[in-house]
Formats: sequence, structure tokens, C-alpha cells
Amino acid sequence: MSTVAVVDPASPFPAYRELSDESLSERIDAVRRRMGERLVILGHHYQQDGVIAHADFQGDSYQLSKSAAERAGCEAIVFCGVHFMAETADILANRPEQVAARGGRRVVVVLPDMAAGCSMADMAGIEQVEDAWADLGTVIDTSDVTPVTYINSAASLKAFCGRHGGIVCTSSNARAVLDWAFARSRRVLFFPDQHLGRNTARMMGVPLDEMCVWNPHDPALGGNARGQLEKSRVILWQGHCSVHAMFKPEHVDAMRANLPGVKVLVHPECSMEVVDKADLVGSTSYILKQVEAASPGTTWAIGTELHLVKRLEQNHPEQTIRFLSPVVCMCATMYRIDLAHLCWSLEHLERGKPVNVIRVDDETARWALTALERMLKVS
Ligand code: SF4
Repeated sequence: MSTVAVVDPASPFPAYRELSDESLSERIDAVRRRMGERLVILGHHYQQDGVIAHADFQGDSYQLSKSAAERAGCEAIVFCGVHFMAETADILANRPEQVAARGGRRVVVVLPDMAAGCSMADMAGIEQVEDAWADLGTVIDTSDVTPVTYINSAASLKAFCGRHGGIVCTSSNARAVLDWAFARSRRVLFFPDQHLGRNTARMMGVPLDEMCVWNPHDPALGGNARGQLEKSRVILWQGHCSVHAMFKPEHVDAMRANLPGVKVLVHPECSMEVVDKADLVGSTSYILKQVEAASPGTTWAIGTELHLVKRLEQNHPEQTIRFLSPVVCMCATMYRIDLAHLCWSLEHLERGKPVNVIRVDDETARWALTALERMLKVS
């Protein structure tokens, strides 16, 4: 055992900062052993390695929530990701029929650090979306608009989609979801990530002049002329991922100049200008599959979060893997989940005094689940 510091499991978080990584890891492992199958720790692909080492499952936000919800005997989920992911886990793990089957017991969902938010999700607040919907209704018929929210959004936005005949999408199924939406309505309101919306719609053949961007901070119809809104089939929310926005077209040019034969593989949260210059575009799962399936000697430049790319580099020494940007692009909010927060939240959970519990209210959860289940039927 480490001799660095002794911290009572009942201590407030700051005391955990005094523990070494070795001591924190030992204590985390001890809680995992004692709680066994009652506990599931989820680690998002973008999470730092030290935390990922303690995860029962690693994946993207939707895969993780789904796998935890399907795990019988699970009493608590500790989500090493960001806030909206823990909300989705709470909604899926605590479906009313499952809670009833467990005799009313809910699965406790914990986010080790409440400051682990998502800057993209924060770019679309529910009041802003409701205001935009009302404003759109002064120009176009909103009964002919399907709201589509990327899974990277607050539960309240998913619930908005549930109430208004809309749906959730992931970066893996965005195209299938937009197909579903266009089969029901002439137009789509897509939030919060304009890039995923634009890249997907363009791939489906929607021309750029039939898309517009809604700026929630511009009270004059989101910065759009009435004619542009009337013409638009896709209304894109002016939101973006601050990590993927760091990749620039010139980074692709530089990689091609320096690494002959390089394959450029990027996430669809990157801008259209970057996507246009890439060889392959897809979700984190797609990126992993492409690299796993490639022949030894393949050279890649990958445009997605740094921790995922670094892990690919370590796991595939037979290939040459480079990070697309010369500057560090990491998800700073996800990085807030560290061993100290994980250990602190686990020890409190085990003592029956959970901290940072994520609990979506029943009404929001009901409608958000409606939108999530529509997505499940599509893909
Ligand atoms: S990488 Fe971007 S979209 Fe994903 S959690 Fe971080 S800020 Fe949000």
C-alpha cells in the first residue's frame, strides 16, 4: 500500500488531492472489488488513460449508456464522461418499466465532477430553443419541421424533441435519422452542432443554399432574412464542439505535404472545409474501426480528440498515426474527471452517501426517452 497520505473515505473532495495516483488507484480498485457487479464504471473514449484503466466499459456516450442500462444487477453507474452523458445513462437505466421491475429501486448515476460539462451542449439552452421555435413559427409552419438533437445535448432538449415529434441522433446514425425526419417533414431544425448537421445534410444532397444558421443571440430571426428561412430545408443551430473546431483545412494540407500517402480521417463535428479535404469522415466508432482494419504500414492523420488518437497510436505501433492538428485539441471538461474525483465519488457511493448524483426529473426523462426510442427504431 502507498504511504503517501491517509484520507478518511468520509472526507470532502480536497483531501483526496493529497493522495498519490498509486494510492488513488488502489482505493478505486478496492471499491470495485467490494461492490462487484453492483457497480459499473463507464469511460468515454476521450477520457484520460489513468481513468480509462478503471472503466468496465469504454465507448462513445450512447454505447456506454446502453451497455450500462442492459447490465442486470447494476445498482450504480459512475460515468467518467460529461454531464449530458450521465443524464442519458440515468434516462436509459431508469426506464419506468425497469424501475418497476426492480421494485421501485433506481440505478444511481454519478458524475465524478459536476464541472465536467460539454461546451457544445451548453450552446443550446432550452429557453433559447423554445424561443427559436416560436420565432420560426412566425415565418414557417413548424408542424412541417422536425427537431433533431445530437445526443450531445441536455436532457431538456431531447425532451423538446420528444414533445415535438422529433428525434435524437448520434454521429454514427445522423444520416439515417435525417432520412427519417425528411420522410415526415419538409424541414429539419438541427441542434446543437451545426457542423454535424451541415456535413450530414450535404452528404445527402441538400444544397448549402437550402440551409441556414440560427444564431440564438440574434433576436432578429436568428440573423436570417424571412426569405432564407422559407427556402431552408435545414436550419442549423449555431453551435460547435470547441475541440473539433480547432482542426483547420491548412492542417490537412500540411499533413499531405509532409506525409506522402497519408490518409486523413476526421470526425463529422469538424468544419465542412476540413471534411471536404479529408479522405474519410465518421464517428469515433468509425475511426476506431478504420484504424483497426487497416494494413500494417498505413499512415493516418486523425482529426478528433487527443486522448483517443494517442491511445490509437499506442495500440497500433504497426501503423503510423499522427494527430491532425499541430496544437493540442483535448476535451478540457472531460479531463476534469481525474483519479481523485473518481476515488472520492466511489468511496462516498459505497458508504451510501453518493455525491454528484445526476437525476433527470420524470417529466423530462419521459419525453427525452420518447426521442431516444425513436432513434433506436431508426438505427
Ligand atoms: S469533445 Fe466536444 S462535443 Fe465532446 S464532450 Fe468535449 S466539448 Fe462536448
